[in-house]
Amino acid sequence: MQEEKKVIADKIIKIFENNRTFLISGHIHPDGDTVGSELALASWLRKKGKKVDIISTDPIPKEFNFLSGIKRILSKITKNRSYDVGVLLECPDVTRVGSFVNDVNFGKMVNIDHHPEPVKKTLKSDCSLIDPKVSSCCELIYFIMKCASYVPSKKEAVCLYTGIITDTGRFQQANTTPEALETAADLFRLGVDPVQVYRNVYAAKTGANLKLLGSALGTLEIDGNVSYMKITCTMYKKTNSSPMDSEEIINYAGKVAGTKVFGLFREVLGKKKSVKISLRSFDKADVNAVARKYGGGGHFHASGFEVKGAIQEVIKKVLPSLKAAAR
Ligand code: 5GP
Repeated sequence: MQEEKKVIADKIIKIFENNRTFLISGHIHPDGDTVGSELALASWLRKKGKKVDIISTDPIPKEFNFLSGIKRILSKITKNRSYDVGVLLECPDVTRVGSFVNDVNFGKMVNIDHHPEPVKKTLKSDCSLIDPKVSSCCELIYFIMKCASYVPSKKEAVCLYTGIITDTGRFQQANTTPEALETAADLFRLGVDPVQVYRNVYAAKTGANLKLLGSALGTLEIDGNVSYMKITCTMYKKTNSSPMDSEEIINYAGKVAGTKVFGLFREVLGKKKSVKISLRSFDKADVNAVARKYGGGGHFHASGFEVKGAIQEVIKKVLPSLKAAAR
């Protein structure tokens, strides 16, 4: 596998070398791994003299504001623009890419991802490096850099490290592999200050963050080895918060002793009767199978999907699948 990966990485490096303009995008609702991999890759390519844009049509959670280059991420793009290469990070299927993708022309498309094979329409790709066994997309970007004998700068290392810690839940999730820890150690040696990254990402909460957490905790339900919480639009309004304040909240449901599957049901702001469901699991409980059943995706232990309906109805409908997965 490692040899196969190296061959693909070398092809990607050639595409990087032989082209001039790049548009990089991660998935909608960006997280630390999306932003970290976008920024580290963009910075590397820019150093090579390439012209690089990053696009995120969805807002970036503010805890990542400390990452170098974040202000250069575009939120929209002129129609019919052309780039030599589009690089899609962490987008296993078309539903995960921002709508911009139909308005832009790409000479070539490169996919770099650590999600398992999608159930839905695959994306056009001239070269794909996909390895569901790695912790994060940032680990894959570091792998490509190593194949190119490129040593990331301290700022790039901070971006990559941020992606690894956020996607492994600070090395507490099942995707914490020896390779993830080794990559983190390499990045540490390149100058990352883990305490500073921790403080920026996890210990810079606002009152709105914590008030929303308090409201969500008040909704906690424990049903055997399934725990879940909900967030309604009214709760956002009352706590003066937004969906971006809700990212970490799901992890609290996983702190209940004996929990195997845990979830967060969130009403989608601005969409009538639509609920975003985030699922996490331990051990052999496969929440990706649950998400796929409802048209979503993700990983074995961390997945998501959206269902139409009023939140209580959606919970009632989806709960049996969560219990079945936790059996
Ligand atoms: P989260 O629950 O943090 O939003 O996402 C957990 C994992 O599931 C991530 O890998 C994310 O990319 C994936 N995911 C979340 N929502 C969806 C969705 O609606 N569709 C697909 N295909 N993947 C999703």
